[in-house]
Amino acid sequence: MIEISELVRENIRNLKPYSCARYEFKGEASVFLDANENPMNTPYNRYPDPLQEELKAKIAGIKNVRPSQIMLGVGSDEPIDLIIRIFCEPKEDNIVAIDPTYNMYRVCADINSVEYRTVLLNDDYSLDAARLLAAVDEKTKVIFLCSPNNPTGNLMDGGEVMKILNGFEGITVMDEAYIDFSSRPSWLEALDEHPRLIVLQTFSKAWGLASVRCGMAFASERIIGYLNQVKYPYNINMLTQRFVGEQLAHEGRKNGWVKMLLEQREIFAGRLAAIPLVEKVNPSDANFLLVKVPDANDIYNRLIDKGVVVRNRNNVSLCLGCLRITVGTAEENEILINALKEL
Ligand SMILES: *Cc1c(COP(=O)(O)O)cnc(C)c1O
Repeated sequence: MIEISELVRENIRNLKPYSCARYEFKGEASVFLDANENPMNTPYNRYPDPLQEELKAKIAGIKNVRPSQIMLGVGSDEPIDLIIRIFCEPKEDNIVAIDPTYNMYRVCADINSVEYRTVLLNDDYSLDAARLLAAVDEKTKVIFLCSPNNPTGNLMDGGEVMKILNGFEGITVMDEAYIDFSSRPSWLEALDEHPRLIVLQTFSKAWGLASVRCGMAFASERIIGYLNQVKYPYNINMLTQRFVGEQLAHEGRKNGWVKMLLEQREIFAGRLAAIPLVEKVNPSDANFLLVKVPDANDIYNRLIDKGVVVRNRNNVSLCLGCLRITVGTAEENEILINALKEL
């Protein structure tokens, strides 16, 4: 059994982390003269809880994990970067990822001078675990998977993912930004059996809080411990902690939005498929559709002329001629349909 500490970079393993005032003293007191704060109750004068314990307790209840299995970041983008910085020695270690997928993994690898190896999905965007594992060598520290995948919209087959979890001795990251829209349960259920698995989720999509910038990483206590040591001590500000905590009380509203968007997704997919210009609408477990058209660049530009913006994925692997279209309100979807028909 591989120990997490063996996978961690030496400088991180030996790190004496910054100890801020709110780490050193956590209890209740009547007078706080320890953090050089302004004493006037603005009421923003105090540093926030560096480990966001109240918020994590609420998230733990909803996600059915322990608070100690949660790290909160400024979007999921923060844990993506931290994972690379914790496990990958620049110019030495490498990352293996599916292709196509969310481009942020590559950008973070590039910023950190870590080799980024890609393995193409099959033509139907399904995952071939054996091909992925064949790209792994002794310097591979992290595998990035994304399910439902962006920009393809499909789920990765559970059996194939299991082959990676069981066959790879490094860290497997499963990005579940779109899990709320999916018909498959989250990989959170597998956390206790797989201590080298990290599951990423976010408040940016189904919860409707993209502007708030709050993402979640779920993993074994060991991994969460390293993420906590390397993150900025006060990465999640007090306003965000309080606001997201309040939003969690409205899970029913989020579920209502998801239900509406899933209904719209089916209607939208059917209407798109009926347009002669559209060659293919890929199946989706997310809140967007990857749609194949004859000339994606031209159609993208002509949609913009009509005031409708979609995402042009023409230059992405296996996505030649594809536009990624977010499922909007019924009215917005109708505008897109009519704009496409008029082209
Ligand atoms: C949108 C998205 C995210 C979310 O990023 P945030 O930084 O949390 O807003 C993460 N992963 C994927 C694959 C995404 O598409």
